[in-house]
Order: sequence, then structure tokens, then C-alpha cells
Amino acid sequence: MLDQYALVDAQFPWFFPLFAFIFGAAIGSFLNVCIYRIPKEVSVITPPSHCACGKPIAWYDNVPILSWIFLRGKARCCGQGFSVRYPIIEALTGLLFLLCWLSFVPGKAVAGMFFCAIMICASFIDLDEMIIPDRFTIGGFVSGLLLALAFPSLHGFAGNIYLLDSLRSVVVAMQGALVGSALVLWIGLLAEVVLRKEAMGFGDVKLLGAIGAFCGWKGAVFSIFGGAILGTIGVGVYLVFRLFAKDNDKEANPSVETSVKTDAEVDEEQSDALIGKQVPFGPMLAAAGLLYFFFLHRQVDRYFADIAILLSF
Ligand SMILES: [Zn+2]
Repeated sequence: MLDQYALVDAQFPWFFPLFAFIFGAAIGSFLNVCIYRIPKEVSVITPPSHCACGKPIAWYDNVPILSWIFLRGKARCCGQGFSVRYPIIEALTGLLFLLCWLSFVPGKAVAGMFFCAIMICASFIDLDEMIIPDRFTIGGFVSGLLLALAFPSLHGFAGNIYLLDSLRSVVVAMQGALVGSALVLWIGLLAEVVLRKEAMGFGDVKLLGAIGAFCGWKGAVFSIFGGAILGTIGVGVYLVFRLFAKDNDKEANPSVETSVKTDAEVDEEQSDALIGKQVPFGPMLAAAGLLYFFFLHRQVDRYFADIAILLSF
């Protein structure tokens, strides 16, 4: 079995990576369904994919990424537009699955694919609805623990001493979840006292538990601060966009008098743009978690090790 894998890999080095991408794109197609249906509490299995006009979508019009391109984003039945977000999520999932395959040993790659799928769903539902359903946060935490048990390589254990390494891996996942959730909970509570309004949703606390189970406590801590930096950039971009949108409104309807706003109202609007209000924090946390998982874990872990050495003197 392993020999055959090595043989195929040596003869056709593109085979497994290509398979990982296509598999990811197909999963991405399913994630689109989850993102659309789960917040509405509709089954993700029945009814099968159908157009907004009610007609079922044929399999050849439902091929990830390609169908959208061939149909130029319009339904074959009635010409209604499909959001460009569908192929983007399919391509994103495909690329992340490919990255998992190329970056990690097979066990960690499988766990990583679950992590990516959960983060994509949580992020896009949070963007749409400003909530993250429990099945991705608490479900993510539970699947993180189970995957750590099944694939100790998720947390860097060889898995030679099988059960022992599995238990060690679960302990790391547990630590990550607890440290991540606790820290973000305390930051949220402090911010609530300072800003005198709810600053962070409880969904973010639970999401950090899921990120910690996959990334360990260093990854969870990094996600909070990395997420805050990404969030600040996100709010900045959002405010600039809103400024342009307002200018356009004024140009479009010059006769309409803009209502005079009191300073308090303007303040209110500005602070509503804070992370967690109009710009959801979940996607930022997820993006930072994925950055750690794929690219920054070595640097971040070394940084924490250096701090530990400094503190021990
Ligand atoms: Zn239609």
C-alpha cells in the first residue's frame, strides 16, 4: 500500500497534489451549501442543489469552479446571476487542501483539511449573519480533540509510541482550547468595562477554543493578536469604503438634504464600526489561525520559547 503510494508519487508527482486540489474544490462546493443553509436551519443534504427559480441544477452545471466560469455566473434555466463568491470559496478550499497536502505529513494534512473547512464555514457565516453556529465552534473544538487523538502529528508528535503520543497530542489541543478561550473571554470582559458595551461575541470565545484545539495555545494566543491586527486593517478598509459610498450617495442625489447628525450620533456610528459590531471578528481570528497553521508556526513558537528563556532568569 505504502509502496504503491511511493511508486505513483515518483512516477506522477502531480497526481496527489492535483487530487488534493480537486477534492478541496468539491468540498468547497459543499461548504457553499453549508454556509447558505445552516444559518437558515435547512438540511444540507435535501433538497439537492437547485436554482433560486426552483429548477434543479444538473450535475454538469454544478462542477466546482468550472461551471461558474463556463456559464459566466448565470443560471442556465433562468439567467439569474450566481454570486462570484461560490467559485471563490471552491478555489480557496481547493488551494488550502493542496497546501495541507504539500506542507504536512498525511495525518496532519487530513486534520488540517478539517481545520480549513471549519474556518471557511465559520468565517463566511459570520460575515453574512454576524453569528457563528455552535456546530462550527464547539463542533470544531470537539473535532480538533478527536483529530489530535487520531493523528498525533497534528501537534508534532511522531505517533511511534502510539497511544502515549495520541494522549500528549490531545493534551496540547486541550491546552490550546482553554488558553485561547479564556484569554479572549477576559479581553472581551475588559473591553466591555472600558467601552461600556458588548465588544466581543461569545461566538468568538468558542471559535478560539476550536482554533486552539488545532493550533495549540501558542497558535491561539497568536490568533487573538494577529486577528486584532487584521481586524484593525479590516475596520480601516471598511471605513474608507463607507466614506466613498457616502460621497457617491451625495453625488447621486444632490437635492436630498443630508440629515444633520449630532456629535453623539456620529460617535455612535464610528464605534459601531468597531471589531465585532459591523466588522465581524470571527473571519479575522480564523485568518490569523490559518496563517499560524501554515506559515508562521515555527517563527511564533520560537518567539514564545525566547520569552520563556527570558522569564526563567
Ligand atoms: Zn433558475
